[in-house]
Amino acid sequence: MSRRNARTTPARPARPALTPDSPCPCGLDAPYGACCGRFHAGPATAPTAELLMRSRYSAFVARDEPYLLRTWAPRTRPADVDFDPALRWTGLDIEETGDGTPFHQHGTVTFRARYRQGGAAGELHERSRFERHEGAWVYVDGEFLD
Ligand SMILES: [Zn+2]
Repeated sequence: MSRRNARTTPARPARPALTPDSPCPCGLDAPYGACCGRFHAGPATAPTAELLMRSRYSAFVARDEPYLLRTWAPRTRPADVDFDPALRWTGLDIEETGDGTPFHQHGTVTFRARYRQGGAAGELHERSRFERHEGAWVYVDGEFLD
């Protein structure tokens, strides 16, 4: 076997591997394992609507479908989550929160989530609604703002 033939191209992972020590995708200054990762692993649940929103964003990054489905209100939950293989989430900014604290039953989170899709940059600007289901925050639905 010649040297040239022995060379292999390392397989590029479809997405960056998320380890407990990775910076958390949600943008908080914490490692993934101590931030959204502890909610993804369970049984800990997000104490506020904002932290649930952040953990769901991170779950989209990690393509963690079971987490997304179990943090979706049963009345609006889809059968499955479609992950666009051409879409890569690149950042999250929380703009505003309404209620959604440990003392509320409902809450809203307004955010911008940035992504790249087929080489083009895009942004999702949404106000999401959350409520408590069996004590834990779940996502209900959202309205697009742009
Ligand atoms: Zn996080």
